[in-house]
Amino acid sequence: NRTPLIAGNWKMNLDHLQAVAFVQKLHWTLKDAKHEDGSVEVAVFPPFTDLRSVQTLIDADKIPFALGAQDLSVHDSGAYTGEVSGAFLKRLDVSQVIIGHSERREYHNEGDDIVAAKVKAALKNELVPVICVGETAEDLEKHGASAVPVGQLEIALEGVASDADIVVAYEPVWAIGSGQAATPEQAQEVCAKLREVIKAKLGDDAAARTRVLYGGSVKSANIASFMRQPDVDGALVGGASLVAEEFAAIIRYQK
Ligand code: 13P
Repeated sequence: NRTPLIAGNWKMNLDHLQAVAFVQKLHWTLKDAKHEDGSVEVAVFPPFTDLRSVQTLIDADKIPFALGAQDLSVHDSGAYTGEVSGAFLKRLDVSQVIIGHSERREYHNEGDDIVAAKVKAALKNELVPVICVGETAEDLEKHGASAVPVGQLEIALEGVASDADIVVAYEPVWAIGSGQAATPEQAQEVCAKLREVIKAKLGDDAAARTRVLYGGSVKSANIASFMRQPDVDGALVGGASLVAEEFAAIIRYQK
């Protein structure tokens, strides 16, 4: 009975004016058409410069979306030019933060040690880390689908308390932005293995309660096939989260 989570990672898209217009449009698109069981959690992850505007809108219009950030610093404050701390995000009513996205790992050289430190920084500031793991096409060929994501998650969860509130996202790198999603069977297989890692590191309760998402070319046409898998509890959506009608259709998936 994990509440499904449909999360929109905007990446570096939509400035703060576009963000406000988009969230209003998404809200109105969803308003009169509830999901079949009305219990899907929706989260949006705008760029840092949009967070204040989106937070003000969500607050004023009582829009039921969780607000997330795409990254955070390992530090709380200090001489770290260009960084944004978890403490500042928390003050903005941000509740979740993406950590270890493959684009951060690839373009910003973020290794598993930095990812682990960021997970701790998020938890310290009462933010839910959305921990992203996934294999490249080369990893897939050499080691199969699950070895790399399992190893990444083991390091990310090192020293995390068993009652920590976390989300894990399985995002095969080759599926991101490629239009070629993993098969539902592969997503299920890896998500089940990631749940075993949560169980081994954090215990049975955490494994039963923690949501494991699939991400990589999710769209309205394939969301249901992922949501039918027992260990897939939602989706981390990139490109398709930027089109209000399409993202609304993903949120309203019918199993
Ligand atoms: P796409 O949905 O555009 O493939 O991106 C997935 C992603 O990276 C979400 O974090």
